[in-house]
Amino acid sequence: KEKSAKDIVPAKIKVVVRKRPINKKELARSEEDIICIEDNGCFLTVHEPKLKVDLTAYVEKHEFVFDAILDEDVSNDEVYMETVEPIIPTLFQRTKATCFAYGQTGSGKTYTMQPLPLKASEAILSLMHNSSYKSEGFQLWLSFFEIYGGKLFDLLNDRRKLCMREDGRQQVCIVGLKEFQITDLNILKEFIEKGSLARSTGTTGANEESSRSHAILQLAIKKGSEVSEKKRSQQVVGKLSFIDLAGSERGADTTDNDRQTRLEGAEINKSLLALKECIRALDSDQGHIPFRGSKLTEVLRDSFVGDSRTVMISCISPSSGSCEHTLNTLRYADRVK
Ligand code: ADP
Ligand code: MG
Repeated sequence: KEKSAKDIVPAKIKVVVRKRPINKKELARSEEDIICIEDNGCFLTVHEPKLKVDLTAYVEKHEFVFDAILDEDVSNDEVYMETVEPIIPTLFQRTKATCFAYGQTGSGKTYTMQPLPLKASEAILSLMHNSSYKSEGFQLWLSFFEIYGGKLFDLLNDRRKLCMREDGRQQVCIVGLKEFQITDLNILKEFIEKGSLARSTGTTGANEESSRSHAILQLAIKKGSEVSEKKRSQQVVGKLSFIDLAGSERGADTTDNDRQTRLEGAEINKSLLALKECIRALDSDQGHIPFRGSKLTEVLRDSFVGDSRTVMISCISPSSGSCEHTLNTLRYADRVK
């Protein structure tokens, strides 16, 4: 079959759902897998267990359709091919692209996101060195930071607090953010590990602090040389951002007893709502994109204007105990499109 132009040019917005396997903890609690994926990954049904007033059990079915639904047996490599791989060539055509992982804590966001920048960098470096781009002098640069409680922290520079500025050309500048040139994948791997360790982590568990922060890893393709720290003749050609969002359930922490937790919950809620509004605005013809709604969307402002690509990976747990959160995640993903 001949490929049409539509097959080659990746869609402006793509929404993908990924289901993780049920785990031992959930099985030990006698929870069941309530997610059924059919029709080659295009159709998803949630079988919500419910009780009638007389306490007889029944199942309410909720059906969803997305661009792609990845079942529990789909590997990280296949996730990459479905989500990020099609975008890579566009980055050399002055495109900004963003890949989000959305979902409740424990649904597989970090598991899904962590390998993607490595695979993407491998492809970018290969294109830089082995294609017609070889003579263009492109470079690959990395930065990694976190938004926590509405504040920015550099994950590759001792969690230094950062602030944001915007120039007249709608370019976002994060003052003081460290950037590192990536020439080989081992260096990148070390940076990613270092940055991941620097996240606001407690120990693992549903309450870990990292579930309250958005981690943003950016790969920039640049051209030109850096004359000095102050004087740059470098140009960003394309940018690819990977965003491991705060646990979506954290946005509901607005009635917690602890004031700090409530404030963080409100900030997360605000940013996830603003993000949804921005992505929706991208897809409509309305000129106004509501960036100012949150720190997250302000930081991503230059990735939303012009020729941009957005991939949302919605991660879900299969278990009956997570049904409510799973439905919330699927409804959010549904509304983004
Ligand atoms: P989140 O970042 O959304 O809080 P994690 O990525 O930390 O969730 O995943 C929670 C746990 O589930 C981890 O132990 C992770 O290894 C495991 N996990 C997540 N997704 C998958 C998957 N698709 N296949 C196997 N294990 C997974
Ligand atoms: Mg995580």
